[in-house]
Order: sequence, then structure tokens, then C-alpha cells
Amino acid sequence: MSFDRVIRHGRVVTPGGSFTGDVGIRGEKIAALGADLDCEGADVIDATDHYVIPGVLDVHVHLALPFCGTVSSDDYRTGTRAGARGGVTTIIDFAIPYAGESLSEAADNWLAKADGEALIDYTFHICVTRWDDHRDQIKAMVDRGFPTFKEFMIYASEGWQSDDRALFGTLEKMREYGAMLLVHAESSRVLDELIARHHTPELMQRYGARLHPMTRPNFVEAEAIQRAVCWCEATGGPLYIVHMSTGEGADIIRSAQHRGVPVLAETCVQYLVLDDSVFEREDGHLFACCPQLKKPKDMARLWDGLRHGEVSVISTDTCTFTRVQKAMWEGDWTKIPMGMPGLETLLPLTYTRGVLGGHLTLEEMCTKLSTNPARIMGLAPRKGGITVGADADLAIIHPTKTHRVDPATMETNADWSPYEGWELAGFSRTTLSRGEVIVDEYRVVGREGRGQWLPRITAGQPAEPTTKDIAGAAA
Ligand SMILES: [Zn+2]
Repeated sequence: MSFDRVIRHGRVVTPGGSFTGDVGIRGEKIAALGADLDCEGADVIDATDHYVIPGVLDVHVHLALPFCGTVSSDDYRTGTRAGARGGVTTIIDFAIPYAGESLSEAADNWLAKADGEALIDYTFHICVTRWDDHRDQIKAMVDRGFPTFKEFMIYASEGWQSDDRALFGTLEKMREYGAMLLVHAESSRVLDELIARHHTPELMQRYGARLHPMTRPNFVEAEAIQRAVCWCEATGGPLYIVHMSTGEGADIIRSAQHRGVPVLAETCVQYLVLDDSVFEREDGHLFACCPQLKKPKDMARLWDGLRHGEVSVISTDTCTFTRVQKAMWEGDWTKIPMGMPGLETLLPLTYTRGVLGGHLTLEEMCTKLSTNPARIMGLAPRKGGITVGADADLAIIHPTKTHRVDPATMETNADWSPYEGWELAGFSRTTLSRGEVIVDEYRVVGREGRGQWLPRITAGQPAEPTTKDIAGAAA
């Protein structure tokens, strides 16, 4: 058997376990796994003393998003280059209809942003923002290859908010179409009330950006998750809570899953490695994202949730704003463009803090970053695992070699990083996308525009059980 490319002598992580050996690639696909594959005529990539892991799927990304009165500063060129350097080989962004637009027009707009620019493969969740207009357009979007939808329980000011009637009706349709609804869960009425109470010159003078966490106590997220789970349980429509940030949220998801409710949850890596003490900093406003960073006890509960299984996916909610854009706040926390860069550091942070930090095994990390997101979002078995027949999307990382996070040397357009100065292992030495080397020796070498849109049929498959859950079931 001959191959175009052979990755040799790495520690290879597959969904069935890890082994030391080779990955044979023919064309864009993984053609064989084995101990000593035939290298004759093949381009050989040496992975001795390295891990060979599935390319990461970041299923929560916003590139070139008009938001908070500006446009997020990583576009499809810089965002996908940043991803590749961080071992990300697939992203899912959110197509949001502009005022008056249909779901189909939203998809067209986002396809146009990515076309000719993206270095890695991509697709979109379709945002339902005006239920009465969009409800009858959902089925056609599933048929067009978009089986994941998103609704926001907040953001009335952006024209994006969905009420309970929309959530309930969409979940009914998800069940009918084999699709899945993603929900941004925060309780808008109470949140707006808390913001209004604090929005005074005296308090803004006194507390500055600290008002961002002060006006979003944990119950703002917990109540909204509880309510969305209620509609999920009532309808049987698959639900996925995005960017879950609280321990209370993890508790609600765990008990719902034990009752058999078809709800899944993702967290973002920033909720695992940062807490809201950053708002004490002089430049604390840079860290405003939505939902905001929480407390160390929430971080601990979310790591537990990943290990035990109620948190299925780690993503980033990448939404990059530069220092100049963040300066638009001028002392009023309600005007801070909300979001942080993330694609380039997702894998290094998860590896360094998660695996080297003792929260997850290497295999569990790959489940949360690759295998689960691919299954849940309808991209498996093409993406998300090192298996014969899958796309040859791979990252090769060194177990301990670190790089210092320095925005000046990164691919992102951000001129700052929440992790500036952190020494992180797990940057991708070599990234392959559909068999092609796009990162070599930690530098991006792939050409933009080679990334492809990924059509999907259904979504909402259950996550892979974690090893702990398997052990628990057997016990
Ligand atoms: Zn988001």
C-alpha cells in the first residue's frame, strides 16, 4: 500500500485509544494507521516524541461580525490563520441576518465572507432572530446543509433577541427536522434591570469595568439555562447551551441529562482559565465578554463537568476587538465591545492547563476539542477523529515545549491577548488540513482560500461518553 504522506513514529490519539506509530495519508484522507507503514515515495513527516492529535474543531467563532457598534477585527483570513497555528482545522461561525433579511440571505452573506479567504474548513450556525419571519425558513436551511440554529435570549438592542415563544417553537422544529438549537442563555429582563440600576455616573466613576461582572450574577445565566432546558424537555427538541460559564449551569445540565433531556453544553476555554479578578486591572475592560468571566469555584466546577461528561465541548466564542475598539467604552461598561481573541490559544490553553494541569487526559482533551464537536454538529465521521476514511486534519504537538504568548508574533489581528506573557505548551508544530501541511515548524505556510464550506445533514448526536462515565457505568 502506498501513501502520499506518512506521519511517522508519533503518539497517535484515536477515538479508540492511543498508540505509537504512523498515519498514512492518501489525497485528502487518512488511509491507514499502523506500526510501520510503507514510506516509499511518500512525503514523510517525523513525529518522534510528539503527539499526533485530531485537528481541533472550534464550533463557536465570530469572524468579521458587526457587533457593539463596530466590526470584530479578525476576519476569515486572519482568524483562520490564527486557528491553524493553534491546531484548529474546522470552525463554525454564526450567520446572523441583518435587519429584514432572511435566513438564506444570512447564509449567503457569511459564505461570501469566507469564500476565497479561509485557510481551513468552515460552516455556520444559522441565527433565528425574528421568529415570525424566519419560522417557515428553517426547513429550507436544513435542506441546504445547515442543521444547527442559534437563538439569543438577550441582545434586544442588536435586534437578535428571541422570546420563549420562539425558543419553544424552534425546539419543536428541531425535533421534527433532526436539527439542533444552540442558545445563548442569559435572563434579559433581570439583567436589564440590574444594568439600569447601576448605570449612574457615580457608580461608573467608582467601579469602572467591574460593573460588568457586578451586573451579571450567576443566577442571570442559571435561570435562563433552566428555562431553556424546560422548553427542551417539553418539546424533545435537541438543545445545546453555548458558552456556559457557571457552576450552577453545569448542575442544571447534569440533572437534566440524568432525566434523559436531550440537552448538551459547551464551555469556552476562557471560563476555565480566567476569573473575574482581571476586572481589577487597569486594562480590565479588555476582558469584557458575554457572558463575563466568573469565579474560581465556577472554573473548578466546569473542569469537573468536562471530566464527568455534562460539559461536552470546549470552544472559544472568538470575537476579537483591538485596544482601540475596546477604548470605545470611555468609562461606560455598557459600551465595551464584548469579546476576546481565542482561536490561536484554544488548544495550547486546554493542553497546558487541562492536560498538564491534571484536569483531563490527553484523550479526554481530544474528545472535548475534536470528537464531540464533530459528532454533535453533524461533521462526524468526516471530521473529529483520526480514523481511516476521515479527512486528514491533524495537529502535531510537543508534550512540553512552550511558547510565550506575544500578540506581536501571533496571527490574530488583536494587538493584545488575555494570556499575554503566559508560557504555553501545545501550539501546533505541524497542522494538516485535508492532507495538506498548512502549519510547519509553528509557522503558517498554507494559502488562504483553500478552506471549504462543509455541508451537513443532521445534528444533535449525543456526545461520546468520557472514560469516567464508562468506568462509572461499568461499576
Ligand atoms: Zn458567541
